[in-house]
Amino acid sequence: MAAEIRLFTCLTDNFGYLIHDPATKATASIDAPEAAPVIKALEREGWTLTDILITHHHGDHVGGVAELKQKYGCGVVGPHDKSAKIADVDLRAGQGDVVKVGGLLARVLETPGHTLDHISYVFDGEKALFAADTLFSIGCGRVFEGNYPMMWNSLLKLRALPDDFKLYCGHEYTAANVKFALSVEPDNADLRTRAEQVTRLRAENKPTIPTLLGEEKKANVFLRADEPSVAASLRMKGADAAAVFGELRERKNKS
Ligand code: ZN
Ligand code: FE
Repeated sequence: MAAEIRLFTCLTDNFGYLIHDPATKATASIDAPEAAPVIKALEREGWTLTDILITHHHGDHVGGVAELKQKYGCGVVGPHDKSAKIADVDLRAGQGDVVKVGGLLARVLETPGHTLDHISYVFDGEKALFAADTLFSIGCGRVFEGNYPMMWNSLLKLRALPDDFKLYCGHEYTAANVKFALSVEPDNADLRTRAEQVTRLRAENKPTIPTLLGEEKKANVFLRADEPSVAASLRMKGADAAAVFGELRERKNKS
């Protein structure tokens, strides 16, 4: 039986996610921005929380962990403490570790840059990537704790995943990301297609997530820092990809 994934809004623009294994009835919350919407989503489905998989230490990703753990006695997986301590973690996971949600397997990729501790979870069997604040649709996270080469390297790890994997990211930032990306690649046909789709979805008050990784590779300018046309558009012809990525990120910060 295939896993079931549910997505819902938390806080202002965070996504909450549940992944459920019908065979074992295990259910994981990917991050826990706040407890109430996670509990509501669980009750709507009649699921019981067995696991929380944390991506990084920011409050908008761990704010609900203590309350959920208290209520359900679930197991909590999180990254190793690198820059800040994450409370209530039972199991620390790093690059290459595989964590179980019932019969589902999640491969851990270390994707530092946004924070030093940031990890992403790849469910190969479900073709699902939970990338939190490393990779957004048509964008990427701000580089708060790492540096640009580190973040670029993390994006390359995610870009290496197959095109038919779905991206589930931490925030609904797609519309603003599209606006910025179009300022760099106004003639990118895939980006323009995505822009139309995003305008439609947002007008209907629907999430722009999930999205296919293959589409992101063609339309997300932050995954395209090694495209000569992107460097040229920034007047950085011949510059190395990490430097082009850094310039993109700085321009986005100011946009
Ligand atoms: Zn964050
Ligand atoms: Fe966040």
